[in-house]
Amino acid sequence: MKPLSQFSRAEARAIRAVLTDIDDTVTTEGTLTASAYAALEQLHRAGLLVIPVTGRPAGWCDHIARMWPVDAVVGENGAFYFRYDRQQKKMHQHFWASREERIRNRARLDLIEKEVLGTVPGTALASDQDYRVADLAIDFCEDVPALPESEVDRIVAVFERAGAQAKVSSIHVNGWFGDYNKLSMAKTLLADVFGIDWETAKKSVVFAGDSPNDEPMFAAFPLSVGVANVHAFAHRLTNKPAYITDGHSGEGFAELARMVLDARE
Ligand SMILES: [Mg+2]
Repeated sequence: MKPLSQFSRAEARAIRAVLTDIDDTVTTEGTLTASAYAALEQLHRAGLLVIPVTGRPAGWCDHIARMWPVDAVVGENGAFYFRYDRQQKKMHQHFWASREERIRNRARLDLIEKEVLGTVPGTALASDQDYRVADLAIDFCEDVPALPESEVDRIVAVFERAGAQAKVSSIHVNGWFGDYNKLSMAKTLLADVFGIDWETAKKSVVFAGDSPNDEPMFAAFPLSVGVANVHAFAHRLTNKPAYITDGHSGEGFAELARMVLDARE
């Protein structure tokens, strides 16, 4: 991970889209600061595509797509993207799985939920679970006292024994049935909606994140940036971001936005 100051001005000038995780990348200790939100808005106003790529639920993503200064949002770790067309006043929704498949998967996730809550003390259902359409989120750090890593591993193991995927964010273990992740849905969105193929994306898209559920993005995007708190998860990452900011969380994101905008002047 190289310091962000080593990001070349030429590469920064070529950036057309900023994809970013939300929790602990744009937000700071659970809140959205004015400076981080302003960074999103400044990027958007400068004509860059701004696309959060998050593990957060569909209910939140409806709000984000509609009200934040963004062009689209990928949610529930790649289960869908939402894009609000402000001219047409229409919310476009694209899901990886059909409604029927999601209902079938929910029944299987319900069994996993029972097993995790029954066998890993100190865990809880994430408080945003009711607004999710495709995944199961187990809280190990948001509204419950932080659990040690060995317990996080036990949660992941329950998902994996049931044949589900599981990814660890900075606050939740998210699990789902289906061969998708943040990266696959981000690629679908870039290609289908914005006409950015993968070869172009590698040079014109920067991704910012902080934790293991961002790893598919760190691995794929040559222009990937970790905010400073990614250090806390570095030992869980085989694929680390190419660059790292000085600032933590939202401050790190604002630092990245400034660099991208400065390069365009
Ligand atoms: Mg995060």
